[in-house]
Amino acid sequence: MLLSPSSPGSMKDPNTNTKSEIDRRYQVVIPVELARHIPDDEELVVTMESDMTRSGQFSPSYLIITRQRVLGLEEGEPPVVLPLSEIEECETDELFGGGRIVSKTKDGTIAIISFSRSFVPEFAAATRIIDDLAHDRDLIYPELEGSAFSEGSGVPLPERGGRSPLDMPRRKILKQLGEFVRPYRARIWIMMLLFGLSVLAQMTPPLLSKFVVDNILGQGDFQASTPGAAKLKLNLFVLLIALSILVVFVTRIVANILKVWISGRLTADLRNHLHRQMQRLTMRYHNRKESGELVGRVMNDTSELQHFLVEGVPFLYINSLSFIGIGAILIWIHPLLALCVFLPVPLLLFGGTWFWRRLVPLFHKRGNRNSVLHSVLGESISAVKATKALGQEDRRHRIFNKGNESFFNVSFHVERTFLGFFEMMALMMGVGTVAVWFFGGHSILDPDSDFTIGDLVAFMFFMAMFYGPLQWFTAVINWMTHAFASSERILQILDQKPETYDAPNAVALPEVEGKISFKDVRFSYNRGNEVIKGLSFEIAPGEMIGLVGKSGAGKSTIVNLVCRFYDPDSGQLTIDTHDLRSVKLTDWRRHIGIVMQDPFLFGCSIADNISYGNHEATFEDIMRAARAAEAHEFILSKEEGYDTVVGEGGVDLSGGERQRIAIARAILSDPPILILDEATSSVDSETEKAIQQAITTLVKGRTVIAIAHRLATLRNADRLIVIEDGKIIEEGTHEKLLGLKDGHFANLVKLQTENNKLLSEQSAYSME
Ligand code: ADP
Repeated sequence: MLLSPSSPGSMKDPNTNTKSEIDRRYQVVIPVELARHIPDDEELVVTMESDMTRSGQFSPSYLIITRQRVLGLEEGEPPVVLPLSEIEECETDELFGGGRIVSKTKDGTIAIISFSRSFVPEFAAATRIIDDLAHDRDLIYPELEGSAFSEGSGVPLPERGGRSPLDMPRRKILKQLGEFVRPYRARIWIMMLLFGLSVLAQMTPPLLSKFVVDNILGQGDFQASTPGAAKLKLNLFVLLIALSILVVFVTRIVANILKVWISGRLTADLRNHLHRQMQRLTMRYHNRKESGELVGRVMNDTSELQHFLVEGVPFLYINSLSFIGIGAILIWIHPLLALCVFLPVPLLLFGGTWFWRRLVPLFHKRGNRNSVLHSVLGESISAVKATKALGQEDRRHRIFNKGNESFFNVSFHVERTFLGFFEMMALMMGVGTVAVWFFGGHSILDPDSDFTIGDLVAFMFFMAMFYGPLQWFTAVINWMTHAFASSERILQILDQKPETYDAPNAVALPEVEGKISFKDVRFSYNRGNEVIKGLSFEIAPGEMIGLVGKSGAGKSTIVNLVCRFYDPDSGQLTIDTHDLRSVKLTDWRRHIGIVMQDPFLFGCSIADNISYGNHEATFEDIMRAARAAEAHEFILSKEEGYDTVVGEGGVDLSGGERQRIAIARAILSDPPILILDEATSSVDSETEKAIQQAITTLVKGRTVIAIAHRLATLRNADRLIVIEDGKIIEEGTHEKLLGLKDGHFANLVKLQTENNKLLSEQSAYSME
């Protein structure tokens, strides 16, 4: 008997995966001899295969979760069977090179299954399923996004910044690129037609030469008898040759301009789509990607694709047309001789492939060694003082010389291989030339043959046209693989599901009162590692709450959930009476103002920064907001006042100044809900007072969630919520919490006060 999985449990969350996706990943077939350990009458929720045994051997093992128990099965080992009712907590232990699922029970901790690193996300998800089942919570299948395996093929995803082997079928890539090409269809047809015409026109001169040689120059008698007519014919042919050259010129110039325009347009469109898509992708996606990698995708991959579209695709098109055309003409003129021309073709193709296989890794190696040499040189120059001071000139030079030698070696290797490639290709083409001269020459001498000198001349012309591009064919095919990989990386981003700003059934939210409530909210950034563990609380409209807790307790995560940068895994977050998931995202975010610890300023003027996201604001509005934020004075003290450009490449503002600009921004946009993530950095007492004053103005009449560090803010708050390890451990007014004997908040304040005392003593000491 092979055990086949039954249906998965209830799936209530709209954001979770489809049954088929779950089936593929979480429903594997268990071998017969192990399946006998599973009770027949229990509903299977998950059956998964791992690559490692509990003792750390690489061998299959299985995790089975039913509605009643969890089983860890390995061949030749007794099964681990654990009733869900005995599980107190289930978690993943990440170990070096992998991890294991362990469960706390009243009898101690029990290891259920081990797995290697590549399986961590899947088993972390399974851990959560076990935990949810054991605690009778709604079963939510985890998102597969961010899995260690790519969708479809099951190929492991590359390391960060790495490249995966081509994973999408080429058909799909072409189809999706086709969508981008669609608007330019007419131009592309015209371009192809023009290139086709140019190929035809290019083939005319050799054919005409054949006629000139055979019918005019080679016909002595004919010449002597009617010299006038021969000259006229000759002139006509020369005119035709000139005309075909002109046609080649015109068609190619127009087609090439079209080619450059279309490929440039196409990549500009792709870049545009990519940028727009990135703005709309979820925070989860952005968290997983390094910004450098994304910049690389937008710029490098699109330009790699563009380069191929400009050079590679027309090359393949024009030369394929030429090969077919020339091949047909050669066969028509003399089939046997045509075979002589075709003789080296397989050699050229195989030889080309052989060489390119060697050349490509060499190019990479040369690139790497070149950049190593650059960085050594850069360091030598920038560290010249330190080198001299330490007397390490010779050592530095030895390091440079080593890099230099290794660059020379690989460069020489590249050049030698390249040279070999060209000469071998020339030799192989020579085979064809020799054969054509031999057989062609003899055919002309043979009185029975109708092969003419003109035929031979035409053959020679065509041969050059035929062989020339052939040596590059394999290079271009190789290049095509790269272009496909680039396209795939681009399409992978475009294929990502963006945030749903306006789901079709989303509720518009023109006004909010500002009541926010968390109902048993659970959330994890990485599956299996819960950060928010069942939070429930309410914030009344106009109430100001302060979130307090140690670093890493989950305060920023709560704010992230309120802003809906992430959705809860389970439980519910509501605003007024609406579930946050059911409202229009753009509407919701419009109602929230955020003042971050380290506010980001865009690279534009202070005035523009204050009115960012509030374009209708007049200069008076901006100034009023700046005044209320206690920012007006310092702004005026800058040389260009409100026009001072800040942000990247602009004037650097201090932390306190940046914060007041952010407060002005929030005052101007006048949101009913405000999120304050206070700065922890120490500022002088005057700035502190100014910021505090600005905050007091800002919070009036709004629902406020403050991640509070300053005691002053904590006193202002109507209620404090103390968070530890994703749970609420204390709640109440400032006075009430301070009064609790041995309370967490009271201890935190005590600790902070002692710290501050220590700091001020230290600074007094250093000033002495
Ligand atoms: P706090 O704001 O209280 O200092 P956070 O909400 O920032 O705490 O973090 C709570 C926990 O979540 C921490 O253990 C932190 O490491 C983790 N965490 C925060 N942001 C991320 C993220 N983007 N990805 C993964 N883990 C995160």
